[in-house]
Amino acid sequence: MRHIAIVGSGPAGYYTAEAALKAFGPGNEGAVRVDIFDMLPVPFGLIRSGVAPDHQSIKAVSRRYEKVALDDRVRFVGNVAIGRDVSVDELRGLYDAVVLATGAPRDRPLGVPGEELGNVFGSAAFVGWYNGHPQFAQLAPDLSGKTAAIIGMGNVALDVARILAKTPGEFSGSDIVAHALDALADSNIERIFILGRRGPHQIAMTPKELGELGELDRAAPLVRARDLPDLREDEALEPGQRKSVSHLRAFAAAGEAARAGKPVTIDFVFNVTSKALHGAGRVEAIDLERTRLAAGRSVATGETFRLPVDLVVSCIGYRTVPIPGVPFDEAGGRFANEDGRIAPGLYCVGWARRGPSGTIGTNRPDGYAVVELVEADLAAASAGEKQGGAGFDALAAERGLDVVSFTDWKRIEEAETIAAREGAPREKFVDVGAMIKARG
Ligand code: NAP
Repeated sequence: MRHIAIVGSGPAGYYTAEAALKAFGPGNEGAVRVDIFDMLPVPFGLIRSGVAPDHQSIKAVSRRYEKVALDDRVRFVGNVAIGRDVSVDELRGLYDAVVLATGAPRDRPLGVPGEELGNVFGSAAFVGWYNGHPQFAQLAPDLSGKTAAIIGMGNVALDVARILAKTPGEFSGSDIVAHALDALADSNIERIFILGRRGPHQIAMTPKELGELGELDRAAPLVRARDLPDLREDEALEPGQRKSVSHLRAFAAAGEAARAGKPVTIDFVFNVTSKALHGAGRVEAIDLERTRLAAGRSVATGETFRLPVDLVVSCIGYRTVPIPGVPFDEAGGRFANEDGRIAPGLYCVGWARRGPSGTIGTNRPDGYAVVELVEADLAAASAGEKQGGAGFDALAAERGLDVVSFTDWKRIEEAETIAAREGAPREKFVDVGAMIKARG
């Protein structure tokens, strides 16, 4: 029997579990047991807390993870934080392989003066707020001002802009949490700047997601034709990027007419970098410096200007949270690893391995690849010596840990479904105590 611990129940964790079931299934080593740990009492990580609440079709992938979760050889071990309740070394003593699939839930800092001012948030916090992550549910961003600045031109920037721009009606069918829906319904934001440090050809926005900005009820994008490169230069772009840029061109061509009757403008500002944030307690302005492209990189020009803003959300990427005792690559913001191997018996996968890039599906080959490493390492080791889940249960009992199982989660989920407003799939619990209580 092989015992595998996976830390993190998001996409990378479940694809790894799926791969482990296949690799160690009947006919190959006979048997495997997989424990999937999560610090929250609820599973699915990024799917629940990261993917935008109005992108329900993307969230539907959790049904595939549920199939894995319901396999007899797999357990969900919720409400247990590895590195706090149980150390990585303890897990390594109990399981043949420990795979860290903890994602990258911490904001990469902007690194400019004034970042600590009120109403300045990183996207992990802001997205966590509207998705009801217990750590960020109390964020209470002030949306009473007229102007928001979003820093970065990736898909998270698009998510944040779209959520800020939508009417309450446009959230029907979504699982945006009530506190965010209420705050957004009262929002006064009229101008949402999306600030990019490079140009239109360097955006990191995918076509489908960018196209959505052109279909909003009360908001429309503003792209200035003068900011776009010559059309012929688009030919050098790879097809997906060319499609994204064609959306920018369509927004520019639609011009003022497309914004008539739409009180909210999503204003694309290219080639600017943030220098400082100002305000008395709460942010009031951002100092920007114009940049130019040199060999694909953004280079400051020395020309600066000040933009008054009431809210800032920086969407410039994420970092993995270090775990005591696990080597960390500070520059990369992820665990130090070689193709997923940190040390014999200790691995990482997904964003915790390669950083925050790619789609949810990218984690599938990642999960299968890390299990190949585990298989190769285990082939060289003797089987049957580790205690696995039974050993963990004894440790959990000794420490008085309140472990939440998948059956418990299904009860929590049922309570969330019953509490849903009309047309919504669920009303999430936004604090751990309420989740535990709902387990019954
Ligand atoms: P991302 O795609 O890496 O984009 C980050 C953006 O921030 C880039 O425009 C980058 O500009 C900019 N940036 C980085 N450091 C900066 C700095 N110091 N100052 C100013 N700008 C800076 O990251 P993301 O938007 O967080 O998305 C993470 C991953 O999740 C991506 O793979 C994304 O596609 C995926 N995702 C997908 C969806 C979806 O709906 N399909 C939704 C959300 C996220 P440079 O290019 O100049 O570095």
